Amino acid sequence: MKTVDIIVPCYNEEDVLHMFYEETSKVVSQIQGYDFRYIFVDDGSRDKTFEILEEFGRKYDDVKYISFAKNFGKEAGMYAGLTYSDSDYVIIMDADLQHPPIMIPDMVKGIEEGYDCCAARRTTRKGEARIRSAFSRTFYRLNNKMTDVDLVQGAVDYRIMSRQMVEAVLDLSERQRFSKGIFAWVGFDTKWIPYENVERIVGTTKWSFRSLLKYAIDGITAFSIAPLRMVTGMGFFISVIAFVYIIITLLNTFISGIEVPGYVTTLSAVLFLGGIIELSIGILGEYIAHVYMEVKNRPIFIMKNTNFPLVKKTNDKGES
Ligand code: UDP
Ligand code: MG
Repeated sequence: MKTVDIIVPCYNEEDVLHMFYEETSKVVSQIQGYDFRYIFVDDGSRDKTFEILEEFGRKYDDVKYISFAKNFGKEAGMYAGLTYSDSDYVIIMDADLQHPPIMIPDMVKGIEEGYDCCAARRTTRKGEARIRSAFSRTFYRLNNKMTDVDLVQGAVDYRIMSRQMVEAVLDLSERQRFSKGIFAWVGFDTKWIPYENVERIVGTTKWSFRSLLKYAIDGITAFSIAPLRMVTGMGFFISVIAFVYIIITLLNTFISGIEVPGYVTTLSAVLFLGGIIELSIGILGEYIAHVYMEVKNRPIFIMKNTNFPLVKKTNDKGES
């Protein structure tokens, strides 16, 4: 009997948890030869999520939960689940039923076909604001151009992974985690299963446009130094132009004497260069911020409560 841990990050999901457990259990109980268990991660919810998980823990013996000391974000939730899982396979899925449990049998089939990973890919973005979809498409295009990881359009975090792949994912011990990139970066054979976007039935999304923008910038800076190269390139390009312009101006001065007008040219040059310098400092700043957060080496999450004896894995460096 192979074991499968289903990791479910939850943040304020009181309305949907019962339904999630019921629906998912109905599906997985039909799958022969695998023993499914849950690891719910309560990401510092402010509603009754934790109480519900406690109740699950008492009622069902396939439920484990971890609860955080505060909200650390979904990335931390997934990471915590992976750290505490010891199963042969791991499934990561959202609590809000936007990741249809009905896809689990197909995912398991993918694993049996020999894939290391089987992941869901959204084919439609029904129910999503047009501007958000456009923004997201641009992000994918930009990201794939600038980084050496190719993100698949519409790829979501809903996936099953082999133990080997999970260990690889955990080996990337960066604090600021961008899982979409990490999953792609570690490699392994992934089978993609398309599905239609499902709207949230209850509760609301925790993503604001601002947080998405931040996520996108973090994603690119975490996997690529292309923006830094761009700054270098821009500096080089502007220097060449400036050099040529200086020569021309000097020649002009020698030939026809000093011309006083030049207000517009001077002002344009100062403003333009000012803008470029600000932008460059900003880009540098993004990377320095990353370095700063990484060297602090703070824990990715802090646990407050759990219902199972913890066997937290450590990596070679002795860090957890
Ligand atoms: N989530 C979390 N911590 C957060 C935000 C979200 O654990 O800070 C969980 C949330 O409970 C859900 C999943 O991550 O299970 C996806 O969140 P959401 O539905 O808000 O995102 P969307 O589906 O809109 O991408
Ligand atoms: Mg959702």
